[in-house]
Amino acid sequence: MCYTFVEMNAAEPRLPKNYKMIYDIIRAAGHGVHFTMSDVFARVKRRQPTIGFSTVYRGIARLRDQGCIDEIEVPGTDSAVYELAGKPHAHFRCERCGTVVDVPYQLPTRTLDALAAQIGAKIEQSALTLQGRCRKCVKAR
Ligand SMILES: [Zn+2]
Ligand SMILES: [Zn+2]
Repeated sequence: MCYTFVEMNAAEPRLPKNYKMIYDIIRAAGHGVHFTMSDVFARVKRRQPTIGFSTVYRGIARLRDQGCIDEIEVPGTDSAVYELAGKPHAHFRCERCGTVVDVPYQLPTRTLDALAAQIGAKIEQSALTLQGRCRKCVKAR
């Protein structure tokens, strides 16, 4: 649960306003828009030219830890993407243009339970990323 704003307004009024700016940018983009750290940095810099990358980096980490944004590790890339926190879903990544889109799917609990039993583990997290070519890239051939 994202509690940044409760915190900002009351208990921790000195929380950097830059963090709110980062959140505003991601929130304004809405669900289904995925940003790399550099995307966020570029946008924040447009509003606040003096901001440093490390401030943006820390802000993103903080917003992630507070559940305001989700971090997705995308297979085949070396940088994670970030998006507004919301319902769990899967992702699709286009291998040609790199676009990441939401896929409205969640691995069923009973599937995870069965897999956990099979390997004798306790599964605490799951993420699914499909890869291939997006609609645009399929058409472009
Ligand atoms: Zn594509
Ligand atoms: Zn997503």
